[in-house]
Amino acid sequence: MTLKDDLIALMGIPGLSGHEDRVRRWIATRLEHSGIGTQTDPLGNLWTSLPGDPDLPTVMIFAHMDQLGFVVRKIEPTGLIRLDRVGGVPERALAAQEVIFCVGPGRDVFGIIPNKSHHATDPEDKHRVLRVSEIYADAGFANEQDAAAAGVRIGTPVVYAPGAAEMNPNRITGPAIDDRAGCAALIALAERLQSDPARPTVHLAFTVQEEFNLRGVVPLARRLNPDMAIQIDLMLATDTPDMADRGDMVLGGGPGISLHSFHGRGTLNGVIPHPAMVALMEDTAKGAGLPLQRAAGTGILTDLSYVQLNGMGVAGIDVGFPMRYSHSAREVCDLRDLDALVTLLQAGLDRIGPEFTLDRDAYTS
Ligand SMILES: [Zn+2]
Repeated sequence: MTLKDDLIALMGIPGLSGHEDRVRRWIATRLEHSGIGTQTDPLGNLWTSLPGDPDLPTVMIFAHMDQLGFVVRKIEPTGLIRLDRVGGVPERALAAQEVIFCVGPGRDVFGIIPNKSHHATDPEDKHRVLRVSEIYADAGFANEQDAAAAGVRIGTPVVYAPGAAEMNPNRITGPAIDDRAGCAALIALAERLQSDPARPTVHLAFTVQEEFNLRGVVPLARRLNPDMAIQIDLMLATDTPDMADRGDMVLGGGPGISLHSFHGRGTLNGVIPHPAMVALMEDTAKGAGLPLQRAAGTGILTDLSYVQLNGMGVAGIDVGFPMRYSHSAREVCDLRDLDALVTLLQAGLDRIGPEFTLDRDAYTS
């Protein structure tokens, strides 16, 4: 399977935060077919450990399997369904969206988040965004009993209707590119590293609950206790008119690194990458003739912000692929960026040899 095949397959599997099991099983089976064994933990994190030179620092590279969505909060007597958000769901992007109620493989229930009939919409409501408390989903049920018979109950996970569409010539659109694209890249990397043993010990991990609380990875970081951590996820593409002031990240312009991330709303966390990790990525890109874009800013947060605090401290960096329209049901990525990302990661691991050091003083003045 190509990276593109894997991405499209992964985007077709629902995996709300805390309910990643179908995604996890798919990835475990996929890796098993390539002769790569995996392990899992009580939270549902999945990983494979590829032993390397024991004298080199160990590396954990991870991407999250989960996606944002909703949970059923209440079923109305009319059969309409009230939802609560799980993760950073943009209310503005919800009207007229398709969703599925994740009841079980082969039994998932299709539904929609309706848009009020336009003919009955007052002028002052035309430009108003509804709060989640106001919206509801319609799955075709006539009453509560219909919903119950279909297996839809309070607590049922709900996600954007899964699926991917190709856009000419290299682009993919659909929900949960964040971070199934990262997962697809890690699968490709795992296959390449099998025939590349002259490298440090590498743990490739597919993690849980990132969109929920950013901490599902924490027990796994404790277990693996890596010296270095590389988190793989989206980088906000800024090459659309509405994003132009946010940075200089071009879709199709190659992978990127984050030099600064911070999220002040409640969580108060972020990542200022270790200078050795920045140098490693920059030197690797230069040596391999690969483009490497840069991102810095506030409003983004990844689970690396918690991994870096593991044990006595972990040298970390966020590396990723440009993506447009984050957290909507129509995210967009470019397959060439993902291919280049895999090449960058493999070449980066190859550069971690006896001369490599995590001593900050070797990189800072
Ligand atoms: Zn993500």
